[in-house]
Parts: sequence; structure tokens; C-alpha cells
Amino acid sequence: MSRSIIPDLKTREVWFLTGSQGLYGEETLRQVAEQSQAIVETLAGASDIPVTLVWKPVLTDSDAIRRTALDANADDSVVGVVAWMHTFSPAKMWIAGLDTLRKPLLHLHTQANVALPWGEIDFDFMNLNQAAHGDREFGYIQARLGIPHKTVVGHATNPRVTASIGNWSRAAAGWAATRSLKLARFGDNMRFVAVTEGDKTEAEIRFGVQVNTWGVNELAEAVHAASESDIDALVAEYEELYSVVPALRKGADRHDSLRYGAAIELGLRSFLEEGGFGAFTTSFEDLGALRQLPGLAVQRLMADGYGFGAEGDWKTSILVRAANVMGAGLPGGASLMEDYTYHLVPGEEKILGAHMLEVSPSLTTGTVSLEIHPLGIGGKEDPVRLVFDADPGPAVVVALSDMRDRFRLVANVVENVPLDAPMPNLPVGRAVWKPAPDFETSAAAWLTAGGAHHTVMSTAVGVDVFRDFAEMAKTELLVIDENTTLREFQKEVRWNQAYYRLAQSI
Ligand code: MN
Repeated sequence: MSRSIIPDLKTREVWFLTGSQGLYGEETLRQVAEQSQAIVETLAGASDIPVTLVWKPVLTDSDAIRRTALDANADDSVVGVVAWMHTFSPAKMWIAGLDTLRKPLLHLHTQANVALPWGEIDFDFMNLNQAAHGDREFGYIQARLGIPHKTVVGHATNPRVTASIGNWSRAAAGWAATRSLKLARFGDNMRFVAVTEGDKTEAEIRFGVQVNTWGVNELAEAVHAASESDIDALVAEYEELYSVVPALRKGADRHDSLRYGAAIELGLRSFLEEGGFGAFTTSFEDLGALRQLPGLAVQRLMADGYGFGAEGDWKTSILVRAANVMGAGLPGGASLMEDYTYHLVPGEEKILGAHMLEVSPSLTTGTVSLEIHPLGIGGKEDPVRLVFDADPGPAVVVALSDMRDRFRLVANVVENVPLDAPMPNLPVGRAVWKPAPDFETSAAAWLTAGGAHHTVMSTAVGVDVFRDFAEMAKTELLVIDENTTLREFQKEVRWNQAYYRLAQSI
């Protein structure tokens, strides 16, 4: 039974707006409409664009443009709009509409034909196909108004174009999910920790996320209200999905701990569903009447699309939720991750990432075992947890820090790699990766940026999707990738300090 809250992105719309003007006459406007519809059909056939593209009638005046922007704003299924100036669409017509638009904008700079028809071209053709300068007029007004947007250049049949639109669509869906996200914190942040703190009011202003706290005993009540029959059914599901260690099986001496783990999942899930929450946090220092630190339940909820941050880390929880939506339908997943310890053998440097318990099994296609082991901190009963290795392959880790006057995202492009040897004494979900461009540069740049130790690891979407997301959120994103040098990175951090202050005005 699927309880996933990851949306089918085909239920999300991106409107395709075509700009022109009345000057050309009915016949030309009819051709503009036909050709822009053909472009939408081509794009809609691309497997890497996950949303539903909706063609809108050609826009030729300011009132219609403004009205379309208002309609896009009002429709919750619309996550963004694509604009293309097929002909020349004088851009003062777009001022009111762009000023009104509150949805992410992609400027597609394209044209109907691939090849220039050298032998046949005449001035009728030139009149019809003038996006080359029509889009420059549009670029000017976007730049002058300072509207955040993404620009994509090329023909609709070019795979680079569809990949870029696809990435942006995923970011737009993630942004829409963030804008409507309700996040439940159970307890406060881990005591004395700096980076997990932050301005929750600013988070709602900037990202649209409602971050609020509930006493953990309200959750404990929901957990202790779980029915025996629901627990039976869930335990049966665990036995089907995972390799359950003998001690946890029915009749064995630790089976009650597994049943309690199931009760935590049932209680958490019902609390989140009833409140309409898409993300949550827990705190091992504030477990109230809960008998175990939630491990298994949190792992499974993350895999079902919920955002999660440990130790009260609501900022990472937001990122896990956004990444889960952005990666909808793709192989791989998203999880809370923490840089834990290093393999520092020269030339072989790797990072071992894990958490006390809470790593999402969406990072693996391999065997997942359900185990019970003591936990040194928290002072509660031994928690049940899923144990696995993340699949090798490309990934990205992203952190969100509150720099007091604004938020900062830091991302590192990484490669998950196989373990050098099994780790039988480390019974948690874990990932081992090599960071780009190399360990030394990556770690130094991350520390320079003040990136958090908690991240979201996404193996479903890459850094390009997070770039588009950051643009939509008007939030700084510092990327550490194969092109990063520490010298240039340090300069970017410094310049950004000035830029983002100026960009906020006063
Ligand atoms: Mn932690």
C-alpha cells in the first residue's frame, strides 16, 4: 500500500505563453499560434519534462498578458510559466504582467525552424520568424525589471533544451511544494548547536514554509494510540520488505521493540496526515514519553516523500521535502545526511556519511535489513532501524544556513562509491562518497562557506535543479563542483556578501 506524498508531476502545469502583437495581421497570428502549439507538442513529447505543458492563446496586448499572469497566480496547479516571443512583442506590453506574476518564469529563446531556408527565404518568412530579436526585447525588460528567471536557448528538439526545461520544471514543482509546506517540529533544537538555529519567520517569508512546534508528548499520545491490528499489519509489511533480523521476528525476545517501532510509524504518520504536514523534525534530547528515538519510522517517512531533519533541524527538513518532490518519478531518492568521518589515505580520500539512525532507504536499491542495536545517547530503549549502503553513483549534498540577514545554500557535487570493505559493526544506513573537485578543495570550500554538517543528499536530481530552485527562492547558492578552486570560491563568498545585501535593498 503506497502512502507516498511525492506528487505525480503530471498533475502540475507549466503554462506556455507566446508573445506577439497585432501589427502583423490575422494570417500571421494564425501561423504564430500554429507554430507555438507545435513547439508545445514537441516539448510535451520529451520524456525529461515531467510536468504538463499547457499552451495558451497568443498574447498581443498588455491587458491579456496581465490577466494571464493573474490566472497563473491564482491556479495552485500551475508551478511556472514559459515565455517565448515568436515575433516582436514590444516589451512595454509585458511590464504589468511580469510585475504581477508570482510564479517562476522560464524564458525560452527558440524558433519554429531548425535550418535557415536559404533558397526560399523572403521577407514574409522574416516577418513571421523574428524571435532572434523579439526575445532580445523581452530579455531587456526582464533585466530591467529584475525578474528572477531562467533562460534556455535552442530548438525544441534539442535534448539540451528539454533537459534544461525538465530540470527547471522539477525545481518549480519543488518550489511550489515548499511554498505550501507545513513543517511540524517535535521539541526544540539540540542544545548549544549553532547551525541548526534560524529565523523561522524569515523562512516563511522567503520560502513560504510554516515552521511550528508541537510538544513531543502529543506525538507520544498518537503513538500509544496505535491499534494492535494496525501494528500487526505494519509488522507483516516490514517482514515482506526487509531482511528482519531473527531477534525482532515474531516470538523472539526483541519482537516487542519492533512492534513499538511500528507504533511510532503509525502515530507519526497519522499526526502528520491529520495536520497536513509534509515535513517534521525530532530531537533526541526531547523524546518525552516515547520509548525509542524514532529511527525506522523516520527512515520510511522520508522515503515516502516527507522532509525530515534530526536534532530539531527544520532547515534541512525543508530541503529533504523539496528534494523529494523535485526527484519525483526518477530513480534514486533524497535523505538527511551528515558528514561523519573521513578516509584520509592520500589520493583515496572519501567521506563516510550517516546519522544516528535517520537515513532514507530511498538511497539504495540493495538489501535493507531491519535491526535493533543500542544507541549511546538519548537514554531511551534500543531503537529499531534500517541498515543499508547507498548505491554508488552521482549525487549532490546541499545545506541551508541562516547567515543572520539571509539564508545561504551550499551544494557539493559528489560521487557515491562502494565501501572499501564491509562495516559489520556500524549498523545504520550510510553512504560513502568522493566530493568534487577533490576532498581537500571541497572540505575547505564548504568550511569557508559555513555550510552546515546536516545536508540533504539527493541521488535523484543534480545540482542544476538546485540552482533553479535557488533562483526561484532568490537565495544564494554556493556550488562546489569540478570547476571549483578555493581562491575563486573565497572571492565568490566575499562578493556575494555584498551582492545579497545590495539585492535586499534596505
Ligand atoms: Mn545530526
